Amino acid sequence: MDLLKVLSEMPGAPGREELVREFIESKVKGLADEIHTDAMGNLICRKKPAEGATDVKKVMIACHMDEIAFYVRLIDDKGFIRIHNAGGFDNRNLFARRVRIQTRDGELIEGVMNPGGRPIHIAAPEDRTKIPKMSEFFVDTGLDKETVTTKIRPGDPVTLVQEFTELGEMATGKCLDNRVACWVGVRLLERLQASDKYDVYVVFTVQEEIGLRGAITSSYAIEPDISIAIDTTLAVDTPGVPGEEQITEMGKGVAIKILDGYAISDKGLVDTFVDLAEKEGITHQYEVLPMGGTDAGAMQRARAGSRSIALSVPTRYIHTVTEMIHKGDLRATLDLLTAYLSQ
Ligand SMILES: [Zn+2]
Repeated sequence: MDLLKVLSEMPGAPGREELVREFIESKVKGLADEIHTDAMGNLICRKKPAEGATDVKKVMIACHMDEIAFYVRLIDDKGFIRIHNAGGFDNRNLFARRVRIQTRDGELIEGVMNPGGRPIHIAAPEDRTKIPKMSEFFVDTGLDKETVTTKIRPGDPVTLVQEFTELGEMATGKCLDNRVACWVGVRLLERLQASDKYDVYVVFTVQEEIGLRGAITSSYAIEPDISIAIDTTLAVDTPGVPGEEQITEMGKGVAIKILDGYAISDKGLVDTFVDLAEKEGITHQYEVLPMGGTDAGAMQRARAGSRSIALSVPTRYIHTVTEMIHKGDLRATLDLLTAYLSQ
């Protein structure tokens, strides 16, 4: 889990994935036949088919590098930093958070985030139950205004800080959505042999959290026949939610996506992945997600379209800094993807 720990603790706001990309590139060097970064910042790693292979299909695998984050909007008169969110936060989870600001010079400045208003001791009763709007949150770096305005400027990305840690068979940390997929992508490239059937493109995409933007352009360029998104999905197998609404369950294996708000998986691929999981003894479950989506939604509609599916890692407390996954589910995701590409 050392690799996942490093990936999880790195900052990678949508549009500012460069630190994650550089790290992944250092890990996959020599594992792919071609590696390049496109104009938007997608890292594209190609594993060519075996020599002499005929009737080869192009497979694109998307693993998004970005995490929900913020951008500095303005610095106020007292040196407090106001922010704009990039991605879907639940404001109830943003109180008393540690954050990091990436400056133009590459310095990482720590701060804390809270909403404006009074502490509980002196708050009016109605204030105690109110959920603040995003525009009410601010970052306090502890630095004087002059230092703040010298080092930080509007447009600098702000990401949450959280230590990655293992809890029994589980692991928890920030942005496991979707650094688990980055982990899968790197480990896949370590395992992958040249195939007789597939020309494989593992793409570490940008800006998924704000509308699948990197997958739109990279899949246009690659023009895949088959596309597979690797991402997290909801595991609401926790108190307060009836079992029928849990979507997936921790420890029950890789989730084979049937549909979500953006895409319906190709039936042939669903059948193939289910059959393969059964044959190889890989724990798996089905996923029907009423809302939300993954890069599969973009890749399916690339140019004239591709046959598309997503494999998901069940995740509790998604889009908080305490996202939790089951290590066995993560291994099952890698195993099933590897088995598919090794047929
Ligand atoms: Zn995601």
